[in-house]
Amino acid sequence: MSIGQRSTPSDSLYTDDYKEASYWLEDVLDFTVPNAVLPVSADVVVIGSGYTGLHAAIQTAAAGRATVIIDSGEVGQGCSSRNGGQIDTSIKPSVQQLARKLGLIKAKAIRQEGINALKWIEEYVKDETIDCHFERNGLYHAAHTPLHYEQMSRDAEQLNREEGFEEAYSVPRSDQRTELGSDAYYGGVVFPKHAAIHAAKYHQGLVKKALNLGVSFVPHCPANSIIRHNKTGDGQFSIQTAKGTIQARNVMIATNGYTTNLTPWFQQRVIPIGSYVIATEALPTELMNELFPSHRVASDSCKVIYYYRASPDRKRILFGGRVSANETNPLVSGPRLHHQMCRIFPQLRDTRISHSWTGTVAYTFDEMPHTGVHNGLHYAMGFCGSGVSMSSYLGMRAGQKIVGNVEGITPLDNLPFPTKPLYTGKPWFLPAAVSYYAWKDKIEYTRAARKYP
Ligand SMILES: Cc1cc2nc3c(=O)[nH]c(=O)nc-3n(C[C@H](O)[C@H](O)[C@H](O)COP(=O)(O)OP(=O)(O)OC[C@H]3O[C@@H](n4cnc5c(N)ncnc54)[C@H](O)[C@@H]3O)c2cc1C
Repeated sequence: MSIGQRSTPSDSLYTDDYKEASYWLEDVLDFTVPNAVLPVSADVVVIGSGYTGLHAAIQTAAAGRATVIIDSGEVGQGCSSRNGGQIDTSIKPSVQQLARKLGLIKAKAIRQEGINALKWIEEYVKDETIDCHFERNGLYHAAHTPLHYEQMSRDAEQLNREEGFEEAYSVPRSDQRTELGSDAYYGGVVFPKHAAIHAAKYHQGLVKKALNLGVSFVPHCPANSIIRHNKTGDGQFSIQTAKGTIQARNVMIATNGYTTNLTPWFQQRVIPIGSYVIATEALPTELMNELFPSHRVASDSCKVIYYYRASPDRKRILFGGRVSANETNPLVSGPRLHHQMCRIFPQLRDTRISHSWTGTVAYTFDEMPHTGVHNGLHYAMGFCGSGVSMSSYLGMRAGQKIVGNVEGITPLDNLPFPTKPLYTGKPWFLPAAVSYYAWKDKIEYTRAARKYP
């Protein structure tokens, strides 16, 4: 994948080699995906070349199915080369919340699937020897008010009791410097089982694996329409693309936050939300050791969350969040993220930005990932910003289902996938919601800082 265009902002906030591109891409520049010509037919056509599409394709190709991945742009141009590389258990609703809608047994099975996804991705990168800096160093989830600290500590105890996986524990503010070089928080909770990854190296490793299995990649090939000819069993589909028409027995929709009116039913069910990230210039080792003494990834309890971490080589900080009510561009989001980063780490006031970028995640109305088959189309999407392991895992499960492998069945299959009246895929309500929650977060942490300096 090529790296984004270099901008030359004069501001001293930026390094001379500042780029409006994902920092992760710097480490995968030596590899170009061989482009294929769109064939007239394939057993399986996968639309979308991120983790979801790749893992589905790896399964179908390994089972001997001729598999083609198409993408609107370059291979991996979506979230999968630009995320924060933090890996959690992905399922946001608690057992209790899920049980109210789906019953306790199903709720527990779904929560367990989040744990399975985290365990599975670790085993996968190990078994396939994918060099992507997978590290299980844990997450420090920091509380932006004392009240949040108390609530988070109670939740962590409950989680440990009920699920027995996380082994989460609280860290009071007095000990916080063992986790984070910041006094902006009021303690936090460590989730020692959470992990980190190099987003683009992981993606590249999957591309290589897929290529070895014979998967063809056709980039710059947006699918414009899908016609289903055979309405029973395996469909016979015609997919019209910018590069011609391809026939397929099975189609996998792996478009997540970039889902368009190609598939209106899905577009009405996912909420595209921009997330923004900056990377800093390389920092002195002593400063990195002060800021990230435990080398865990970090996030906070703000409703409009900030997430950050040291780069795998511990030279830079990657700092992400949502800093605009409306969608914006990296030149606008960069300084705002820098401002927030310095609020949390005043030590970084003179630190410059080397990279600023954005990507679009897919939220859902029930905050759940979704997978299954709709009108003959296999799909996995709606990872709600926590998709590194879950998109991989559900992509893999979808690929297994396509080839008729019962191991592909998951408790997440074909859950009710809610939409809202009049919602067509344009989240008009988002700016108001983001403004309100960002305002509320600010009031809360400003008050806390005044009361407990
Ligand atoms: C800034 C940012 C930070 C994130 N941080 C984290 C994190 O720390 N931890 C975590 O777990 N998750 C994180 N995520 C989310 C995670 O990256 C995603 O959930 C995951 O990568 C989704 O993978 P995917 O393959 O489903 O989608 P994507 O990687 O987004 O791929 C979808 C692809 O579909 C293609 N496409 C769309 N429509 C068409 C069409 N009509 N024809 C052909 N191609 C099409 C797009 O071009 C795109 O390449 C983050 C996301 C972003 C943007």
